[in-house]
Amino acid sequence: MKQDDYAADVANDWCAGCGDFGILRALENALAALQLPLHQFAVFGGIGCSGKTPYYLNTNGIHTLHGRVLPFASGAKLANPELTVIAVGGDGDGLGIGAGHFANAGRRNLDMTYILFNNGVYGLTKGQAAPTLRQGEQTKAMVQENILSHLNPILLALTSGFTWIGRGYAYDPRHLQSLIQEAIKHCGSAFIEVLQPCPTYNDLHDKQWYVGEKTEKASRLYYLHDEDYDPCVPAAADKQLQEQKLTQCVIKAQEWGQRIPLGVFFQDLSRDEMTVKIAQHQSTYQQYPPAKQPLLDDNARNAIDWASFFTKHIL
Ligand code: SF4
Repeated sequence: MKQDDYAADVANDWCAGCGDFGILRALENALAALQLPLHQFAVFGGIGCSGKTPYYLNTNGIHTLHGRVLPFASGAKLANPELTVIAVGGDGDGLGIGAGHFANAGRRNLDMTYILFNNGVYGLTKGQAAPTLRQGEQTKAMVQENILSHLNPILLALTSGFTWIGRGYAYDPRHLQSLIQEAIKHCGSAFIEVLQPCPTYNDLHDKQWYVGEKTEKASRLYYLHDEDYDPCVPAAADKQLQEQKLTQCVIKAQEWGQRIPLGVFFQDLSRDEMTVKIAQHQSTYQQYPPAKQPLLDDNARNAIDWASFFTKHIL
């Protein structure tokens, strides 16, 4: 399977130069590198420009409701734990109306990957301030400066309990590809924030702002691995080491302005993944998850006792 095999043959209506293209390419390349069969993964999109991503991939997927991408993705994973599940959406979708679902997806530690396209604005609805735009900033589509304080996606992911947290840049698809591959391989809730320039509505944080004109020295972006930053909390980590890793992640997550880190901020291998925990209470869950249970018996009659099904599966 090559990158092209993961791309759908449909017209794409993202604006020319949009950072979304880099993210889509990185995602296709990551899927190709992992050689994921098309029927063994599913991609769920929220509402917004980024929410169209499932249309552009040659796979199963759903363009879901505003702010509800994580419940859809979680339901698919719980019903079929063998499925590789990827959720995508913008910062307005995921950290505005979807913020409650974001926090709960983190604390469940369900094995799936959430990619947040962060451009600081609601691009699909003409550039209003989204939750990551900083107080005092005013993009060209806004009639006054933003009066609200911003949310920090990395810190929110950390406090919500995501066990793998990274950040990429849309115009560095090779690095982003490696992050996506790592996130998919991580057994637990993985979160990637992608700094995604929106050239149409966010004139403050464009390519030039992130990486400068020509020289690498002018770039605000740097890679955590270049500083020997170790994000990993090993499985048998003691409390002191856990606290150390949390603290270093908090410090790095707050860097912004002249220096902006990219890479893996945090990986916690000490927590059980959710389907493992479910299986400890339901011995047949891994072998017969909801997606593998027959709906009809040999006589085409309902094969499921729905009352006991829901008693067993509602957590
Ligand atoms: Fe991309 Fe912005 Fe255009 Fe949406 S409005 S497609 S985010 S450039």
